[in-house]
Amino acid sequence: MFVTTGSSTITKLFGIMSIRAKIAVLNNSKRKKVAIIGFGASGIMTFHNLVRFHANNSKSLLEIYIFDKSPINKGIAYSTKNVNHLLNVRAKGMSAVEEDSLHFVNWLKVNGYQYSNEDFVPRVIYGLYLEDIISQAQKIAKEKNITVVFKQKNIETISIKNSYFLINEHLYHYCVSCVGAEMKSDNNFWNQKIERYLGDKEIHLQGCGLTAFDAVVSLANMGYSGTIYLHSRTNHMPQVHSNAKPLPKPIISNYENFSGRQIIHEFIKLCKKAFTNGEDWRSVFDSIRPITPQIWQKFSVKEKQSFVRHCLRYWNIHRHRCPKQQYEFIQDLINSKKVILTKEHCKQNFIDCTGFSLSVSNNRFYSALISSNIIKPDDISAGALTNN
Ligand SMILES: Cc1cc2nc3c(=O)[nH]c(=O)nc-3n(C[C@H](O)[C@H](O)[C@H](O)COP(=O)(O)OP(=O)(O)OC[C@H]3O[C@@H](n4cnc5c(N)ncnc54)[C@H](O)[C@@H]3O)c2cc1C
Repeated sequence: MFVTTGSSTITKLFGIMSIRAKIAVLNNSKRKKVAIIGFGASGIMTFHNLVRFHANNSKSLLEIYIFDKSPINKGIAYSTKNVNHLLNVRAKGMSAVEEDSLHFVNWLKVNGYQYSNEDFVPRVIYGLYLEDIISQAQKIAKEKNITVVFKQKNIETISIKNSYFLINEHLYHYCVSCVGAEMKSDNNFWNQKIERYLGDKEIHLQGCGLTAFDAVVSLANMGYSGTIYLHSRTNHMPQVHSNAKPLPKPIISNYENFSGRQIIHEFIKLCKKAFTNGEDWRSVFDSIRPITPQIWQKFSVKEKQSFVRHCLRYWNIHRHRCPKQQYEFIQDLINSKKVILTKEHCKQNFIDCTGFSLSVSNNRFYSALISSNIIKPDDISAGALTNN
């Protein structure tokens, strides 16, 4: 359990003090208060790292306050209960501990799960792994005398007072935002009780990406026997994983001196070369992944906008691929006409499977922070501007 100090007399007194008095108290205090907003995978890993790297002999007393609008649920991706909803990354790529790349794989072994490094593990098991990371972090926090408070609360906005972060009348030295991305609509698959559609002859899903695949798997597992329509303007479905091996490094030499346009040009050349030589294009995609953040920094604003407009949908279906067993399951349903892919605009009631919004203005929390000048949107308004 999280240590809760919220009801102590000291905290109550602190609660009714003026902001100025609270600032004075914190200025003279040895306490360092950190707020983590959002407790999905990123919030959990932030919590774990904060307690792990806090020096035991530190002169300041660390207090960590965690806020999430939901009860502890590990975020949308890992709160599913369906064992056929798989990770789309192999087990060897899912460690939550940066310096130990096989942490998740070893956790699977120790806990008696029969999966290899190369397998796509059910996300529900990854959720249990995250729960274990939380337990480990709580244990370390206890050993190091770190106070941890979990509050189920939707944080609508924050403000800054004398370089402290003011959140719901309380001040913090540091604030880590881990609120994740926001779904495009409240009508999304993860917000729905899909059981209520089981009696319908037809079910219409907007989108044909990985979320639509999860929805189809869920409906099939519930015994749905009607027809599922996947509506998409392009009908581009995610590609399937293979056993492609990474290419020798560096995949694009001297890319530091290239513009974004030149990098894309080189990248397409590599894909074409792989295709002509009968090799796997996936090797090119997987090999460029470790340097994609650096490459993205090389893009000018115009190049970024152009990439989002023209290339992102192709990048997404090749980069976020589907495990083979799931892909074959969907293909079988398509072949037997239980699932129909259509470019037609969806006119009836539908379940939104189009995933996350890429615009920061659609994220309620970030919009509030932008309005109050706490953060600025980045150059393509996809996230917050950072100094790194
Ligand atoms: C269906 C699905 C499958 C995925 N599969 C994979 C995969 O196999 N491998 C992979 O690497 N990635 C996968 N992803 C990507 C995945 O989202 C990320 O890896 C990771 O889970 C993101 O974590 P996060 O903590 O940043 O965001 P989230 O998991 O979205 O967590 C954000 C948390 O913040 C809380 N929150 C939001 N706003 C507020 C607020 N204002 N106040 C308080 N709390 C708030 C939410 O309740 C939530 O708990 C998948 C994503 C989805 C949707």
